[in-house]
Amino acid sequence: MRPMNEKQPFVYELHAQDGAARRGVFTTPHGPIAMPAFAPVGTQATVKTLTPDELHSLDVDIILSNTYHLHLRPGEDIIAELGGLHQFMAWDGPILTDSGGFQVFSLAHKRSLDEDGITFRSHIDGSRHRFTPEAVIRIEELLGADIIMPLDICPTPDNRREVERAVELTNAWAVRAKQAHSRADQALFGIVQGGIFPDLRRQAAEFLTALDFPGYAIGGLSVGETKEEMYATLSAVVPLLPADKPRYLMGVGTPEDILEAVARGVDLFDCVLPTRVARNGGLLTREGRINIRNARFARDPNPIEPGCTCYTCQRFSRAYLRHLFKAGEILGLRLATIHNIHFMEQLMKDIRTAIQEGRFYQFKDEFLSRYRISDQEARHKNKLAYRQRRGLQVR
Ligand SMILES: [Zn+2]
Repeated sequence: MRPMNEKQPFVYELHAQDGAARRGVFTTPHGPIAMPAFAPVGTQATVKTLTPDELHSLDVDIILSNTYHLHLRPGEDIIAELGGLHQFMAWDGPILTDSGGFQVFSLAHKRSLDEDGITFRSHIDGSRHRFTPEAVIRIEELLGADIIMPLDICPTPDNRREVERAVELTNAWAVRAKQAHSRADQALFGIVQGGIFPDLRRQAAEFLTALDFPGYAIGGLSVGETKEEMYATLSAVVPLLPADKPRYLMGVGTPEDILEAVARGVDLFDCVLPTRVARNGGLLTREGRINIRNARFARDPNPIEPGCTCYTCQRFSRAYLRHLFKAGEILGLRLATIHNIHFMEQLMKDIRTAIQEGRFYQFKDEFLSRYRISDQEARHKNKLAYRQRRGLQVR
């Protein structure tokens, strides 16, 4: 690794390519990120149930935290007073903060959107707040993450009028965010919106790449469109993004979606799924997801996944894990989370090695031929919930 350049703290180095799949390293002030990378989600400045030391021992390079949640509680001023997010949560690796736009639309109450920003009430105590592109940058500068996102609008992916408006506002807000951003030790990424419409994606990508961001995010996917629509959109949009910058697919993180996105040139992912399903007893294996609460595991002396080298699988049986979940014991949540993050990080390592060795597509086919996809129903529910949301009316 070459020494960090003070003026250019964020550099993407491409190490190997296999078709469109890329292996590389993105350098940040808090260390390098081996890509393709998966970022576990630490919504409230904690990856639920795990310590930072455990995250390091699981080879996690980067975590994501949520601007919306931290703004509401404890507030960016308190975090800044206590030395910024890294010091506050005692995590010395890279952090990415999202803009909070997605949470405003999925969680906040009484939101209203105008040209200048979004006004909303907190889902916690009903207090009134306003996010503008400048206000969100101010919050993110106080939090101090390495990679930060501008305020954007994530529309219903197949509603053309809504998507057109979202692209227009997201692009305009990207300009304002860039002007407001002043910390050289943070990389502000551009977010490409455009739903499932290739022409709108192209319009957004061309506009944002002309602004020359240090990285680009693909937003507005995994929010109710079909898998086929998601993959077709990635095929259309990724080639429009510069090769010397990382590409981040926001909110995507099932193993099958990661493999398909890497195959189309994506470098970075985040998703709450591996940690969230873990706390419900959903454990990831090479055969697909299992639910450890199932009665068939009551007398099963095997680890979650034979051959898995994680702490949980080295020491505990499926029968014991099932007992912990049935008894409502906290240790069960921790052990399940450890296994699922290990599974995701191992998948990313295997992907990087396969790209290096020029056999990524073979690896992908072999993995997918074994892995039973189990979230179709959840995705469908997600889609219905999204459709039932209030539309994006602009005053
Ligand atoms: Zn394991």
